[in-house]
Amino acid sequence: MADLYEKLQERARHLGFSLVGAIPARPAGRLEAYLRWIEREMHGLMGYMARPDRVARRRNPALILPGVQTIICLALDYRTIDLPAAVAADPSRGRISNYAWGADYHDIMTPRLEQLAAWLAAQAAGETRHRVYVDTGALLERDHAETAGLGFTGKNTMLIHPRRGSWFFLGEILTTLPFPVSRSPFPVPNSAAISCGRCTRCLRACPTAAFPTPYVLDARRCISYLTIELKGWIPAELRPLMGNWVYGCDVCQDVCPFNRFAPELIDSPFRPDHIDRAAPPLLDLLALTPEGFDARFAESPIRRIRRERLVRNACVAAGNWGDAAAGPPLTALLADSSPIVRGHAAWALKRVPGDHAAGLAAALSRETDDQVRRELALSA
Ligand code: SF4
Ligand code: SF4
Repeated sequence: MADLYEKLQERARHLGFSLVGAIPARPAGRLEAYLRWIEREMHGLMGYMARPDRVARRRNPALILPGVQTIICLALDYRTIDLPAAVAADPSRGRISNYAWGADYHDIMTPRLEQLAAWLAAQAAGETRHRVYVDTGALLERDHAETAGLGFTGKNTMLIHPRRGSWFFLGEILTTLPFPVSRSPFPVPNSAAISCGRCTRCLRACPTAAFPTPYVLDARRCISYLTIELKGWIPAELRPLMGNWVYGCDVCQDVCPFNRFAPELIDSPFRPDHIDRAAPPLLDLLALTPEGFDARFAESPIRRIRRERLVRNACVAAGNWGDAAAGPPLTALLADSSPIVRGHAAWALKRVPGDHAAGLAAALSRETDDQVRRELALSA
């Protein structure tokens, strides 16, 4: 088995994974804390997280894969470029979380995990079965990865490797192949002694105060949740705090001192081929048609939130930009087919200079959606 660990590590690295560990398939150590977090409704409208069948699978991994013996946890780095400071600070551009600057990580990781699982199956004497996951299953993957020695949990709730930071994706292979280990085969050196210490940078830097206490994230306030997971109306009191983030948010990782050590990838599918992939001009996003959205984000994880949510987010960012140049496209969006877009455009329009009274009044006179009418009335 010791040989198999070494071969697994070598094979995983050959496939591009930077960290790998294997642990017996047991419920995650922080499952009870997670369930208390759900009870406090900090998962917001991500109802799937609280679904009884999903909780049952978290309690018993054998419900995911009967006969499962081992969970193999893997990390794939994604840090590519540092955004030039002038671009990062430009409010006329929308900010995109750096994991989404290039290819969709699901498309990259899933086949690699399947390849590794097939290789592993070929090493076994008898028949084995497996399932692979990339943030889609009922697994507390950061917790399992910590147990497997891939890093420690930071106060920002991210998994942090002391020498690689936290800019990596996690994936798992569940297998019926037993690995008789009670420790990670590839532990972080001195991991018990490595932690955040007295640092509180991420807690202080969060634009929306989404950490009620260290190690606890109230997703309902998190910009990543608001821009990606939340399908409907962004709470009005949070909109001004979101700055120009239009897809995710990197602030609590950007400020983390451990990310100084994150390797910068040169040849990577996650590298943006143009600076606009990392920070697109807001005027471009406000003008996106459904066809334009499909063409532009066909191979990006951003395609998952669809045009409506991205343009909604761009409206909020445009409102925070507060430049007159955003007036005409926002006025045009008052006639969008999506009520969500119309309502957020109305909110934003009030925050850009210019006389928009006639456009808002015309929109109010034809509007039939109650929430949009409220947004228009507030904006008028
Ligand atoms: Fe706060 Fe952004 Fe981190 Fe969410 S991702 S907790 S909004 S800093
Ligand atoms: Fe921990 Fe500081 Fe990093 Fe936050 S910024 S996760 S407190 S080391």
